[in-house]
Order: sequence, then structure tokens, then C-alpha cells
Amino acid sequence: MYINLNDLGDIGGKKTVSMEIEIADLNFRDQEVEVKDNIELEIEIFHTRDSFIIEGEMEVNLVLSCSRCLKNYQTSSVIELSEEILKKDMEDLEKLFIDEIIVDNIILSLPIKTLCSEECNGLCPQCGQNLNEGECDCEIENIDPRLQKLKEFYDD
Ligand SMILES: [Zn+2]
Ligand SMILES: [Zn+2]
Repeated sequence: MYINLNDLGDIGGKKTVSMEIEIADLNFRDQEVEVKDNIELEIEIFHTRDSFIIEGEMEVNLVLSCSRCLKNYQTSSVIELSEEILKKDMEDLEKLFIDEIIVDNIILSLPIKTLCSEECNGLCPQCGQNLNEGECDCEIENIDPRLQKLKEFYDD
């Protein structure tokens, strides 16, 4: 989506942009990130001598997959935007391609470890049961490998 810069005026000029933008789903670190609904963008664009400065925020609804239990969950967040686009990097000074800026900022906002909840219990490593939905019958022995050696020694 392009934002028209024609009506921004001379250096020192600014304008407010309030719009909804549709962004395709992203793929990040092998994870499919679904962008739900349109993104609501509220920004101001300032015209400076060498650049255009964007300040504002956007509301984003994403569907992520939990790194512990692998279930999808939805998050809603407001992401602050603060960017400076140098004129020398622009092909056309009359319009600004905003999609890349939006996608970059969404990716920056993603958590390193996606969790459906802080208390997510994850999956049983043995049978794969989602432990948020109920216990399984597996008995998981959590024995320190050094103690395991001792145990074998005494068992013999
Ligand atoms: Zn989870
Ligand atoms: Zn199990």
C-alpha cells in the first residue's frame, strides 16, 4: 500500500494518516504468523530536508503458535512506530511504500519464545498429550544422569 506524499507540503510540512491496511500472512523463523483482520494504522508523517519521519502506532491482531504446546493462540497488540526514511533511499519522493515498514515492525515485536500463556504446561515428551487439557498416564522419571549411574551401580 502506498501513502501519497504529494500533499505533505514543503520541508516542515506534516500530515496525519489514519487507515486500515491488509497485510499477507508472514513466515518468520519457520513459523507461520497469521495476520488477522486489517491493521489499523495511525501515524503522522513529517517532511524534513533529507527524509520523511513516521511517528505513530498500529493495532495488530496475530495468530501465533505456542512453542510449548504447539496450539495456535491469538494476540492483539499496539505497536509503536518510529521510522525515518531517507530521501536518497526512495525511488519516488511522492509516495511511500508502507508495507515493508509494517512487516518489519511486526517481526520486531514478536516474542522470542511464543507462549499461549505463561503457565502453559506444554506437551508430554513421551506421549504428546497436551498437558493443559489433562494429565496423561506416563510416568516420567526425572533422574539426574549422574544419579542414574549411581543407581545402576547399586542395582547390579
Ligand atoms: Zn501453550
Ligand atoms: Zn504422556
